[in-house]
Amino acid sequence: MTLGTGVGGALVLGGTLFGGPHGAAGEIGHVPGFGDTVCTCGARGHLETVAGARGIADRYAERTGRRIGTHEVATAARTGDRDAQDVFATAGWGIARAVLLTAGILDVTTVVIGGGVARSWDLLEPAVTAALAAEPPVSGAAIRVEQSVLGADAVALGAAAQVRRVVLGA
Ligand SMILES: [Zn+2]
Repeated sequence: MTLGTGVGGALVLGGTLFGGPHGAAGEIGHVPGFGDTVCTCGARGHLETVAGARGIADRYAERTGRRIGTHEVATAARTGDRDAQDVFATAGWGIARAVLLTAGILDVTTVVIGGGVARSWDLLEPAVTAALAAEPPVSGAAIRVEQSVLGADAVALGAAAQVRRVVLGA
C-alpha cells in the first residue's frame, strides 16, 4: 500500500503480481466505506480521503480551518495537537480496515506500507495495531504490517521488475 498524495497499492499473490483483467487490482485507495467525503475520483468515502497526504491535510483543514501540508500536520500531532493526532488516528484506522478487508478476502500474510505518509508511521502505527488486534482475521494468523525500505525508489524498481518479468521473461 502506497500512502502518497493519494493511496495506491498492488497485490502479490502466490509470489506473482496480480493486476486483474483491467490492471486495477490492488487499487485500495478507491474502495468505499471510509466516510462520506468526495474523493479525487469523484466517488465518496474512499480510503484515499482519509489516508492519503491530500486527505490528511484536507481533513485537518476541515477540523481546524488551518490549511497546512501533511508534514506540518504530522509535526503538529507530535507536539500535542489533538486535531492532528485524530486525523492521523483516522488514517491509521482506515489503513487497518483496508488491510483487514484484503486479508479477509485473499488471506494475505504481509502488508508493506510505503509512500511519503509512511514516514509518519509513528503516528499511524498505534491506530493500525489497535484496529488489527480488535478484529483479527478469521484465519487466526496475525497479519504482518511492515514499512517499505525502498522509499522513493519503490515505483521505479517495481516497474523495472515488471519489465524484466513481462518483456525479458527473467
Ligand atoms: Zn476514489
